[in-house]
Amino acid sequence: MDCLFCKIISGEIPSHKIYEDEFVYAFLDIYPCSEGHTIILPKEHIPRYTNMEETDSASLFKAVNKVAKVVERTLNVPGLNIGINNGEVAGQSVPHVHVHIIPRRENDNGGS
Ligand code: C5P
Repeated sequence: MDCLFCKIISGEIPSHKIYEDEFVYAFLDIYPCSEGHTIILPKEHIPRYTNMEETDSASLFKAVNKVAKVVERTLNVPGLNIGINNGEVAGQSVPHVHVHIIPRRENDNGGS
């Protein structure tokens, strides 16, 4: 499978892993919008969020909930953006479902 994120999950491409379980993998974004920008994704190769079954979506978001709390607590930030770009036209650049967890800080200029 010629998928960048599948290669990150398998370890073929190195990443800074912050969480893994049987269903998901989470790592630090290499072009972070803010310090601690985390990507969390299902291990199964699913191109877009709207391709996911409800049960797989529930498993993904159970892990998102866990990781988001850890990111918020560990970095001691007052807020997070949590989101998905679904489809190229919506800004999805890697066709493997992933959720962005972006730490936000006071006056951080939109996390950019
Ligand atoms: O939502 P979108 O598909 O644009 O997000 C892809 C994300 O994957 C980007 O934030 C990009 O910085 C990140 N990325 C990465 N490591 C790579 C390639 C892309 O963390 N090798």
